[in-house]
Amino acid sequence: MDSFEVKRLEDGGTDPDRLEFDRALRPRRLREFIGQQRLRDNLEVAIRAARQRKEPLDHILFCGPPGLGKTTLAFLLAQEMDSEVIVSSGPALSRPKDLAGTLSRLEYCDILFIDEIHRVPHAVCEFLYSAMEDHAIDLTLDDGPGGRTLRLGIAAFTLVGATTREGLLSPPFRSRFGMVERLETYPLEDLIDIIDRAATLLGMKIDADARPEIARRSRGVPRVALRLQRRLRDLAQVRGLASLDLRTTKDGLAALAIDERGLEAVDRELLLALIERGGGPVGIKTLSACLDEAEDTIQSVYEPYLLRIGFLSRTPRGRVCTKHAYKHLGLAVPENLADVNQ
Ligand code: ADP
Repeated sequence: MDSFEVKRLEDGGTDPDRLEFDRALRPRRLREFIGQQRLRDNLEVAIRAARQRKEPLDHILFCGPPGLGKTTLAFLLAQEMDSEVIVSSGPALSRPKDLAGTLSRLEYCDILFIDEIHRVPHAVCEFLYSAMEDHAIDLTLDDGPGGRTLRLGIAAFTLVGATTREGLLSPPFRSRFGMVERLETYPLEDLIDIIDRAATLLGMKIDADARPEIARRSRGVPRVALRLQRRLRDLAQVRGLASLDLRTTKDGLAALAIDERGLEAVDRELLLALIERGGGPVGIKTLSACLDEAEDTIQSVYEPYLLRIGFLSRTPRGRVCTKHAYKHLGLAVPENLADVNQ
């Protein structure tokens, strides 16, 4: 089975309308990529230098929560380098064999993009090391101890890894990336620019006061902003509006159960699970069982935002809900709430 499939362009599903929306909006060149100035500057220098030397880019690791543009950057780097991008993900690469064919077919300066690279198994990482450093792969001819291997040269390429859990990458693997870039959540102005850009590309009109309202509830994440914008565009269209106004925006966001801080139903469930247990501390396993969500999803998708806005705290004994979360949910703060709130 070939484990290299075209990656989801958004958060799962294959709704053709949504995929079309994504394709139309994805920045294709570095200059179209909004925000992350420091990262863009670094990439610009790296691209220029590599192009001048006619060499592949150094291996690059992008770290940060989902929806901030890691995949977009991998595709955009290929465009900037006039090369192809081949896509896979950590969970799809269970054995070195899964990778051998693809590595051997890569052309000079191609980009191999591995999403969720922290989930690549150890044996596959080891296999990648020689490909990354020596442009060679070691093929096993016979199994078992003393089995023979054959070294096969491959074209020099660029590995672009994306991870939401940088800490799970082994130090030897991490150290083989020449550039490690962390994507930050986006400030309001950048999200407004992203919404504006999408509106222009889609020929959609949005009132000036509706844009910041969408941006404020997007948790600093472009994918969330664009998802909300897509739903609100539908609502404006159904209401026969020439331009999306603030009232329709607020109605639409209320219908999606997204509150003023951008919390969704699952975020509130998470906080309530802690509150039902006296505000915590509660271990990740218990939370995972309460919410019926994988521990990894809780840690990489839900918690970062709640931590950032100070609604949640991590302690050695588990997660704790802060007094700010109680207040936001309109609940009385218990007197004996864990020390982290003092
Ligand atoms: P990740 O791989 O980090 O999960 P993606 O690259 O899939 O995120 O980005 C999610 C969506 O947000 C894409 O549709 C992309 O077009 C949009 N996007 C992300 N970052 C930016 C940006 N800086 N400027 C414009 N659009 C962006």
